Amino acid sequence: MKTALLKSLALSTACIVAAGVASAQDAVVHAGHVLAVPGEGYLTQQTITVKDGRIVSIQPGYKSGAKGAPVIDLKSAYVLPGLIDSHVHITGENGPDERLKSFTDSAVDTAFDGAAFAKVTLEAGFTTVQDVGAGNDTIFGLRDAIARGAVVGPRMRAAGQAISVTGGHGDVNGYSSPVMKLFTGTNVCNGADDCRRAVRQQVKEGADIIKITATGGVLSNTSAGLEQQFSQDELVAIVEAAHAMGRQVTAHAHGKGGVNAALRAGIDSIEHGTYLDDESIALFKEHGATLVPTVLAGATVTGWTNEPWLPEASRKKAAIVGPLMLDMLRRAREGGVNVAFGTDTGVSRHGENAKEFALMVQAGFTPEEAIRSATVTASRHLEMETDIGTLEAGKYADLIAVTADPLKKITELESVDFVMKGGVVHKGLN
Ligand SMILES: [Zn+2]
Repeated sequence: MKTALLKSLALSTACIVAAGVASAQDAVVHAGHVLAVPGEGYLTQQTITVKDGRIVSIQPGYKSGAKGAPVIDLKSAYVLPGLIDSHVHITGENGPDERLKSFTDSAVDTAFDGAAFAKVTLEAGFTTVQDVGAGNDTIFGLRDAIARGAVVGPRMRAAGQAISVTGGHGDVNGYSSPVMKLFTGTNVCNGADDCRRAVRQQVKEGADIIKITATGGVLSNTSAGLEQQFSQDELVAIVEAAHAMGRQVTAHAHGKGGVNAALRAGIDSIEHGTYLDDESIALFKEHGATLVPTVLAGATVTGWTNEPWLPEASRKKAAIVGPLMLDMLRRAREGGVNVAFGTDTGVSRHGENAKEFALMVQAGFTPEEAIRSATVTASRHLEMETDIGTLEAGKYADLIAVTADPLKKITELESVDFVMKGGVVHKGLN
Protein backbone atom coordinates (compact mmCIF):
# COMPACT_ATOMS: atom_id res chain seq x y z
CA MET A 1 0.00 0.00 0.00
CA LYS A 2 2.78 2.34 0.94
CA THR A 3 4.69 1.55 -2.26
CA ALA A 4 1.62 2.16 -4.42
CA LEU A 5 0.99 5.52 -2.80
CA LEU A 6 4.60 6.58 -3.14
CA LYS A 7 4.54 5.64 -6.82
CA SER A 8 1.44 7.72 -7.40
CA LEU A 9 3.04 10.63 -5.52
CA ALA A 10 6.12 10.26 -7.68
CA LEU A 11 4.13 10.48 -10.88
CA SER A 12 2.08 13.47 -9.90
CA THR A 13 4.70 15.72 -8.37
CA ALA A 14 8.18 14.68 -9.40
CA CYS A 15 8.54 18.01 -11.09
CA ILE A 16 8.55 19.97 -7.83
CA VAL A 17 10.69 17.82 -5.57
CA ALA A 18 13.48 19.80 -3.97
CA ALA A 19 16.69 18.00 -4.87
CA GLY A 20 18.69 20.46 -2.80
CA VAL A 21 17.62 23.97 -2.05
CA ALA A 22 14.63 25.03 -4.12
CA SER A 23 12.17 27.84 -4.19
CA ALA A 24 8.48 27.38 -3.56
CA GLN A 25 6.23 26.59 -6.48
CA ASP A 26 2.48 27.11 -6.54
CA ALA A 27 0.51 23.86 -6.32
CA VAL A 28 -2.73 22.29 -5.21
CA VAL A 29 -2.79 19.39 -2.78
CA HIS A 30 -5.64 16.87 -2.93
CA ALA A 31 -5.86 15.49 0.60
CA GLY A 32 -8.05 12.54 1.57
CA HIS A 33 -7.87 13.31 5.29
CA VAL A 34 -6.59 16.60 6.77
CA LEU A 35 -5.97 17.26 10.45
CA ALA A 36 -5.96 20.98 9.70
CA VAL A 37 -6.32 22.00 13.36
CA PRO A 38 -5.12 19.14 15.57
CA GLY A 39 -7.65 18.70 18.33
CA GLU A 40 -10.60 19.32 16.02
CA GLY A 41 -10.56 16.04 14.05
CA TYR A 42 -10.21 15.33 10.33
CA LEU A 43 -11.63 17.14 7.35
CA THR A 44 -12.02 14.78 4.39
CA GLN A 45 -11.50 15.22 0.62
CA GLN A 46 -10.01 18.70 0.69
CA THR A 47 -8.04 20.85 -1.73
CA ILE A 48 -5.19 22.87 -0.20
CA THR A 49 -4.08 25.66 -2.53
CA VAL A 50 -0.46 26.81 -2.10
CA LYS A 51 0.92 30.08 -3.47
CA ASP A 52 4.24 31.78 -2.74
CA GLY A 53 4.98 29.26 0.01
CA ARG A 54 1.78 29.88 1.94
CA ILE A 55 -1.67 28.32 2.11
CA VAL A 56 -4.22 30.36 0.17
CA SER A 57 -7.26 28.23 0.95
CA ILE A 58 -8.51 24.86 2.14
CA GLN A 59 -11.74 23.91 0.40
CA PRO A 60 -13.95 20.81 0.33
CA GLY A 61 -13.76 18.65 -2.80
CA TYR A 62 -10.92 18.06 -5.24
CA LYS A 63 -10.41 21.21 -7.33
CA SER A 64 -7.90 21.98 -10.04
CA GLY A 65 -5.44 24.79 -9.48
CA ALA A 66 -4.43 27.75 -11.59
CA LYS A 67 -3.30 26.80 -15.07
CA GLY A 68 -0.03 24.90 -14.95
CA ALA A 69 -0.03 24.43 -11.16
CA PRO A 70 0.91 20.84 -10.35
CA VAL A 71 -1.52 18.64 -8.43
CA ILE A 72 -0.07 16.74 -5.47
CA ASP A 73 -2.13 13.61 -4.99
CA LEU A 74 -2.48 12.79 -1.28
CA LYS A 75 -6.02 11.42 -1.70
CA SER A 76 -5.15 8.16 0.05
CA ALA A 77 -3.02 9.81 2.76
CA TYR A 78 -3.42 11.56 6.11
CA VAL A 79 -2.20 15.15 5.99
CA LEU A 80 -1.08 17.08 9.08
CA PRO A 81 0.61 20.41 9.81
CA GLY A 82 4.42 20.16 9.86
CA LEU A 83 5.61 18.97 13.26
CA ILE A 84 7.42 21.24 15.74
CA ASP A 85 10.09 20.08 18.19
CA SER A 86 10.60 22.66 20.96
CA HIS A 87 13.84 21.15 22.30
CA VAL A 88 16.65 19.98 20.03
CA HIS A 89 20.44 20.28 19.90
CA ILE A 90 20.79 20.10 16.14
CA THR A 91 24.56 20.62 15.85
CA GLY A 92 25.58 17.43 17.68
CA GLU A 93 24.69 13.94 18.76
CA ASN A 94 25.78 12.34 22.02
CA GLY A 95 28.09 9.37 21.62
CA PRO A 96 31.56 7.99 22.22
CA ASP A 97 33.44 10.72 20.29
CA GLU A 98 31.55 13.73 21.66
CA ARG A 99 34.13 14.85 24.22
CA LEU A 100 36.99 14.46 21.75
CA LYS A 101 35.11 16.47 19.10
CA SER A 102 35.02 19.46 21.44
CA PHE A 103 38.83 19.60 20.91
CA THR A 104 39.12 18.60 17.27
CA ASP A 105 36.18 20.38 15.62
CA SER A 106 35.92 24.06 14.73
CA ALA A 107 32.64 26.00 14.82
CA VAL A 108 32.52 25.50 11.03
CA ASP A 109 32.92 21.70 11.33
CA THR A 110 30.10 21.68 13.86
CA ALA A 111 27.88 23.83 11.64
CA PHE A 112 28.34 21.34 8.78
CA ASP A 113 27.37 18.50 11.12
CA GLY A 114 24.34 20.60 12.03
CA ALA A 115 23.40 21.09 8.38
CA ALA A 116 23.32 17.31 7.88
CA PHE A 117 21.23 16.82 11.02
CA ALA A 118 18.89 19.63 9.96
CA LYS A 119 18.14 17.86 6.67
CA VAL A 120 17.42 14.57 8.45
CA THR A 121 15.14 16.39 10.89
CA LEU A 122 13.15 18.07 8.13
CA GLU A 123 12.78 14.79 6.24
CA ALA A 124 11.40 13.24 9.44
CA GLY A 125 8.49 15.70 9.25
CA PHE A 126 9.75 18.36 11.66
CA THR A 127 9.40 21.60 9.72
CA THR A 128 10.22 23.83 12.73
CA VAL A 129 12.51 23.30 15.70
CA GLN A 130 13.81 25.26 18.65
CA ASP A 131 17.49 24.72 19.42
CA VAL A 132 18.14 25.26 23.13
CA GLY A 133 21.85 24.75 23.47
CA ALA A 134 24.75 25.08 20.99
CA GLY A 135 27.73 27.32 20.27
CA ASN A 136 26.57 30.83 19.34
CA ASP A 137 28.42 31.18 16.03
CA THR A 138 27.50 27.66 14.95
CA ILE A 139 23.80 27.70 15.62
CA PHE A 140 23.04 31.30 14.66
CA GLY A 141 24.92 30.78 11.39
CA LEU A 142 23.00 27.59 10.65
CA ARG A 143 19.66 29.18 11.58
CA ASP A 144 20.28 32.12 9.27
CA ALA A 145 21.54 29.91 6.40
CA ILE A 146 18.32 27.87 6.55
CA ALA A 147 16.21 31.04 6.69
CA ARG A 148 17.80 32.46 3.55
CA GLY A 149 17.52 29.13 1.71
CA ALA A 150 21.23 28.28 1.53
CA VAL A 151 20.82 25.11 3.64
CA VAL A 152 17.94 22.61 3.76
CA GLY A 153 16.43 22.32 7.23
CA PRO A 154 13.55 23.20 9.52
CA ARG A 155 12.63 26.75 10.49
CA MET A 156 14.55 27.46 13.65
CA ARG A 157 14.37 29.54 16.80
CA ALA A 158 17.69 29.32 18.64
CA ALA A 159 19.01 30.07 22.12
CA GLY A 160 22.73 29.68 21.48
CA GLN A 161 24.74 28.95 24.60
CA ALA A 162 22.79 28.14 27.75
CA ILE A 163 23.48 30.50 30.64
CA SER A 164 24.90 28.74 33.70
CA VAL A 165 26.49 29.39 37.08
CA THR A 166 30.19 28.55 37.47
CA GLY A 167 30.45 24.76 37.75
CA GLY A 168 26.80 24.41 36.74
CA HIS A 169 25.23 22.16 34.13
CA GLY A 170 25.90 24.62 31.28
CA ASP A 171 29.52 25.37 32.24
CA VAL A 172 32.55 23.41 30.97
CA ASN A 173 33.06 20.47 33.35
CA GLY A 174 35.33 17.51 33.85
CA TYR A 175 38.44 18.64 31.94
CA SER A 176 41.80 19.81 33.30
CA SER A 177 41.88 23.32 34.74
CA PRO A 178 43.71 25.05 31.82
CA VAL A 179 41.31 23.48 29.30
CA MET A 180 38.28 24.60 31.27
CA LYS A 181 39.68 28.14 31.48
CA LEU A 182 40.16 28.16 27.72
CA PHE A 183 36.64 26.91 26.97
CA THR A 184 34.67 28.97 29.50
CA GLY A 185 32.32 31.31 27.64
CA THR A 186 30.47 34.55 28.33
CA ASN A 187 27.45 32.39 29.21
CA VAL A 188 28.72 31.73 32.74
CA CYS A 189 27.53 34.20 35.37
CA ASN A 190 27.35 34.61 39.14
CA GLY A 191 25.21 37.16 40.99
CA ALA A 192 22.22 39.11 39.70
CA ASP A 193 24.19 41.86 37.91
CA ASP A 194 26.52 39.42 36.18
CA CYS A 195 23.58 37.30 35.06
CA ARG A 196 21.87 40.37 33.56
CA ARG A 197 25.13 40.89 31.67
CA ALA A 198 25.09 37.30 30.38
CA VAL A 199 21.50 37.65 29.13
CA ARG A 200 22.26 40.89 27.32
CA GLN A 201 25.37 39.33 25.76
CA GLN A 202 23.30 36.43 24.39
CA VAL A 203 20.76 38.85 22.90
CA LYS A 204 23.60 40.85 21.34
CA GLU A 205 25.07 37.71 19.77
CA GLY A 206 21.76 36.66 18.22
CA ALA A 207 19.69 34.61 20.69
CA ASP A 208 15.97 34.41 19.90
CA ILE A 209 15.27 32.99 23.35
CA ILE A 210 17.33 32.74 26.56
CA LYS A 211 18.06 29.24 27.85
CA ILE A 212 19.36 28.76 31.39
CA THR A 213 20.42 25.70 33.34
CA ALA A 214 18.42 26.23 36.54
CA THR A 215 19.48 22.88 38.05
CA GLY A 216 22.12 20.23 37.59
CA GLY A 217 21.79 17.93 34.59
CA VAL A 218 22.52 14.37 33.58
CA LEU A 219 25.10 14.82 30.83
CA SER A 220 27.45 17.36 32.45
CA ASN A 221 30.57 15.60 33.75
CA THR A 222 30.20 16.65 37.37
CA SER A 223 28.68 15.10 40.47
CA ALA A 224 26.94 18.37 41.38
CA GLY A 225 23.48 16.79 41.72
CA LEU A 226 20.22 17.68 39.99
CA GLU A 227 18.95 20.49 42.22
CA GLN A 228 18.74 24.27 42.05
CA GLN A 229 21.91 26.05 40.88
CA PHE A 230 20.87 29.68 40.24
CA SER A 231 19.74 31.58 43.34
CA GLN A 232 16.30 33.20 43.41
CA ASP A 233 17.70 36.72 42.92
CA GLU A 234 19.73 35.55 39.92
CA LEU A 235 16.63 33.94 38.37
CA VAL A 236 14.56 37.10 38.85
CA ALA A 237 17.35 39.22 37.29
CA ILE A 238 17.60 36.88 34.29
CA VAL A 239 13.87 36.93 33.61
CA GLU A 240 13.68 40.73 33.98
CA ALA A 241 16.67 41.35 31.69
CA ALA A 242 15.39 38.94 29.03
CA HIS A 243 11.81 40.21 29.03
CA ALA A 244 13.06 43.82 28.86
CA MET A 245 14.74 42.90 25.56
CA GLY A 246 11.74 40.99 24.22
CA ARG A 247 13.07 37.49 24.85
CA GLN A 248 11.41 34.56 26.59
CA VAL A 249 13.41 32.51 29.06
CA THR A 250 13.34 28.72 29.27
CA ALA A 251 14.97 26.74 32.07
CA HIS A 252 16.51 23.31 32.02
CA ALA A 253 15.33 21.98 35.42
CA HIS A 254 15.10 18.56 37.08
CA GLY A 255 14.97 19.06 40.88
CA LYS A 256 11.69 20.48 42.17
CA GLY A 257 13.44 23.24 44.13
CA GLY A 258 14.88 24.54 40.87
CA VAL A 259 11.66 24.00 38.91
CA ASN A 260 9.63 25.93 41.47
CA ALA A 261 12.17 28.73 41.95
CA ALA A 262 12.30 29.31 38.19
CA LEU A 263 8.49 29.35 37.96
CA ARG A 264 8.26 31.80 40.87
CA ALA A 265 10.76 34.07 39.08
CA GLY A 266 8.37 34.23 36.10
CA ILE A 267 10.17 31.89 33.71
CA ASP A 268 8.24 31.18 30.49
CA SER A 269 8.91 27.45 30.28
CA ILE A 270 10.61 24.49 31.93
CA GLU A 271 12.55 21.82 30.04
CA HIS A 272 12.46 18.26 31.50
CA GLY A 273 10.78 19.00 34.89
CA THR A 274 11.59 15.53 36.25
CA TYR A 275 10.78 16.05 39.93
CA LEU A 276 7.86 18.48 39.49
CA ASP A 277 5.27 18.17 42.29
CA ASP A 278 1.80 19.48 43.13
CA GLU A 279 3.23 22.88 44.04
CA SER A 280 5.00 23.01 40.65
CA ILE A 281 1.74 22.17 38.85
CA ALA A 282 -0.02 25.02 40.68
CA LEU A 283 2.86 27.40 39.80
CA PHE A 284 2.81 26.37 36.12
CA LYS A 285 -0.87 27.27 35.94
CA GLU A 286 -0.59 30.44 38.05
CA HIS A 287 2.17 31.83 35.80
CA GLY A 288 0.89 30.44 32.49
CA ALA A 289 4.20 28.59 31.98
CA THR A 290 4.75 25.72 29.57
CA LEU A 291 6.40 22.34 30.17
CA VAL A 292 8.63 20.76 27.49
CA PRO A 293 8.89 17.19 28.80
CA THR A 294 11.63 15.49 26.67
CA VAL A 295 10.68 11.98 27.83
CA LEU A 296 12.57 10.54 24.83
CA ALA A 297 15.79 11.82 26.43
CA GLY A 298 14.84 10.02 29.65
CA ALA A 299 14.24 6.79 27.76
CA THR A 300 17.52 7.23 25.86
CA VAL A 301 19.80 7.84 28.86
CA THR A 302 18.14 4.99 30.76
CA GLY A 303 19.73 2.73 28.14
CA TRP A 304 23.17 4.28 28.69
CA THR A 305 23.81 3.47 32.35
CA ASN A 306 26.44 0.85 31.44
CA GLU A 307 28.00 2.71 28.48
CA PRO A 308 31.77 2.96 29.09
CA TRP A 309 32.05 6.20 27.04
CA LEU A 310 29.69 8.05 29.38
CA PRO A 311 31.56 9.62 32.34
CA GLU A 312 30.75 7.94 35.64
CA ALA A 313 29.10 11.06 37.10
CA SER A 314 26.66 11.11 34.15
CA ARG A 315 25.96 7.37 34.31
CA LYS A 316 24.89 7.69 37.94
CA LYS A 317 22.57 10.62 37.21
CA ALA A 318 21.12 8.86 34.12
CA ALA A 319 20.19 5.84 36.22
CA ILE A 320 18.30 8.08 38.65
CA VAL A 321 16.55 10.50 36.27
CA GLY A 322 15.78 8.42 33.18
CA PRO A 323 13.17 6.09 34.66
CA LEU A 324 11.28 8.96 36.38
CA MET A 325 10.36 11.05 33.36
CA LEU A 326 7.33 9.19 32.05
CA ASP A 327 5.59 9.44 35.41
CA MET A 328 6.48 13.17 35.56
CA LEU A 329 4.62 13.67 32.28
CA ARG A 330 1.64 11.69 33.53
CA ARG A 331 1.43 13.94 36.64
CA ALA A 332 1.78 17.09 34.55
CA ARG A 333 -0.96 16.06 32.13
CA GLU A 334 -3.36 15.04 34.88
CA GLY A 335 -2.64 18.35 36.63
CA GLY A 336 -3.56 20.32 33.50
CA VAL A 337 -0.09 21.76 32.72
CA ASN A 338 0.34 23.22 29.23
CA VAL A 339 2.70 20.80 27.43
CA ALA A 340 4.68 21.66 24.28
CA PHE A 341 6.26 18.73 22.44
CA GLY A 342 10.05 18.56 22.80
CA THR A 343 12.53 15.72 22.66
CA ASP A 344 16.09 16.85 23.53
CA THR A 345 17.14 15.23 20.24
CA GLY A 346 20.91 15.23 20.01
CA VAL A 347 20.74 13.08 23.14
CA SER A 348 18.68 10.67 20.99
CA ARG A 349 19.44 10.39 17.27
CA HIS A 350 18.40 13.15 14.86
CA GLY A 351 15.46 12.14 12.69
CA GLU A 352 13.95 9.98 15.45
CA ASN A 353 12.21 12.92 17.14
CA ALA A 354 8.77 11.36 16.54
CA LYS A 355 9.52 8.55 18.99
CA GLU A 356 8.43 11.02 21.67
CA PHE A 357 4.80 10.62 20.53
CA ALA A 358 4.46 6.97 21.59
CA LEU A 359 5.97 7.83 24.99
CA MET A 360 3.44 10.65 25.41
CA VAL A 361 0.65 8.20 24.65
CA GLN A 362 2.12 5.85 27.29
CA ALA A 363 1.91 8.78 29.73
CA GLY A 364 -1.83 9.16 29.06
CA PHE A 365 -2.10 11.53 26.08
CA THR A 366 -4.50 10.60 23.29
CA PRO A 367 -2.73 10.53 19.91
CA GLU A 368 -4.55 13.73 18.89
CA GLU A 369 -3.51 15.49 22.13
CA ALA A 370 0.11 14.49 21.48
CA ILE A 371 -0.07 15.82 17.90
CA ARG A 372 -1.70 19.04 19.14
CA SER A 373 1.22 19.56 21.54
CA ALA A 374 3.64 19.25 18.56
CA THR A 375 1.66 21.69 16.40
CA VAL A 376 -0.83 24.13 17.94
CA THR A 377 0.76 24.30 21.41
CA ALA A 378 4.38 24.28 20.22
CA SER A 379 3.67 27.06 17.69
CA ARG A 380 2.36 29.27 20.53
CA HIS A 381 5.30 28.31 22.75
CA LEU A 382 7.67 29.43 19.96
CA GLU A 383 5.59 32.62 19.43
CA MET A 384 5.09 31.59 15.78
CA GLU A 385 1.39 30.76 15.81
CA THR A 386 0.50 33.31 13.15
CA ASP A 387 2.74 31.42 10.68
CA ILE A 388 2.71 27.74 11.66
CA GLY A 389 0.98 25.13 13.85
CA THR A 390 -2.22 24.60 11.85
CA LEU A 391 -3.18 24.35 8.20
CA GLU A 392 -5.12 27.54 7.59
CA ALA A 393 -5.21 30.25 4.95
CA GLY A 394 -2.30 32.67 5.41
CA LYS A 395 0.05 30.27 7.20
CA TYR A 396 3.16 28.69 5.68
CA ALA A 397 2.50 25.61 3.56
CA ASP A 398 4.30 23.37 6.06
CA LEU A 399 2.58 20.00 5.82
CA ILE A 400 3.35 16.32 6.12
CA ALA A 401 1.54 13.13 5.14
CA VAL A 402 1.50 9.51 6.26
CA THR A 403 -0.20 6.52 4.66
CA ALA A 404 -2.06 5.20 7.72
CA ASP A 405 -4.15 6.98 10.35
CA PRO A 406 -1.82 8.36 13.08
CA LEU A 407 -4.80 8.83 15.41
CA LYS A 408 -5.20 5.04 15.35
CA LYS A 409 -1.48 4.24 15.33
CA ILE A 410 0.72 7.08 16.60
CA THR A 411 3.98 5.35 15.60
CA GLU A 412 3.01 6.02 11.97
CA LEU A 413 4.61 9.46 12.56
CA GLU A 414 8.00 7.74 12.98
CA SER A 415 8.06 7.16 9.20
CA VAL A 416 6.60 10.24 7.53
CA ASP A 417 6.07 9.74 3.77
CA PHE A 418 5.71 13.31 2.51
CA VAL A 419 7.15 16.63 3.69
CA MET A 420 6.44 20.11 2.34
CA LYS A 421 7.99 23.19 3.96
CA GLY A 422 7.01 26.62 2.73
CA GLY A 423 5.55 25.12 -0.43
CA VAL A 424 8.72 23.18 -1.27
CA VAL A 425 8.44 19.39 -1.33
CA HIS A 426 11.37 17.79 0.48
CA LYS A 427 10.31 14.16 0.76
CA GLY A 428 8.17 11.40 -0.61
CA LEU A 429 8.37 11.79 -4.29
CA ASN A 430 11.45 10.23 -5.77
ZN1 LIG B 1 18.71 19.68 26.02
